[in-house]
Amino acid sequence: MIETCQYKTYDEEATRKIASRVAAALQPGDVIALEGDLGAGKTTFSQGVAKGLGIVDPIDSPTFTLIKEYDQGRLPFVHMDVYRLDEGGEELGWEEYFYGESVTLVEWADRIKDWLPERFIHIQIERIEQDGRLITVTTPKEWADRICGGVGEA
Ligand code: ADP
Ligand code: MG
Repeated sequence: MIETCQYKTYDEEATRKIASRVAAALQPGDVIALEGDLGAGKTTFSQGVAKGLGIVDPIDSPTFTLIKEYDQGRLPFVHMDVYRLDEGGEELGWEEYFYGESVTLVEWADRIKDWLPERFIHIQIERIEQDGRLITVTTPKEWADRICGGVGEA
């Protein structure tokens, strides 16, 4: 019961553009699980989501803070980077984020897969050449029109 759509980008601006179109389709409570190697473009994608939500504050990687929240956009936006999360993750209170009204985006989401909600938007970014990226968006079937349909052509 899942659907996939794919986009190729050849510079970081194009990745931000795809991300901001995804952002336009987001609803309260949506969770984006973002995966990809170091330097794949997860934070770049996050910047596009934030921009698409109307957030003007600069978005950098919350590698050390783990979680940053932005409240000036169309929806509250929670940006997580759980790369450095080791033991004790169960104490972080994920439910507050994943079952609330915010849009939550998690870089390195596979590290907290035990705590992700049952349904989420999965986005994988893979390097295909030096500056080429393959962005694969996978959603529950009933969200596919909303999420993939709104992105259009790369
Ligand atoms: P991550 O958060 O996955 O570690 P970043 O978004 O911080 O990755 O960094 C991605 C790097 O790749 C940036 O230096 C960016 O300029 C570069 N880059 C090159 N091509 C692309 C592209 N098509 N999409 C996104 N980033 C790209
Ligand atoms: Mg990052």
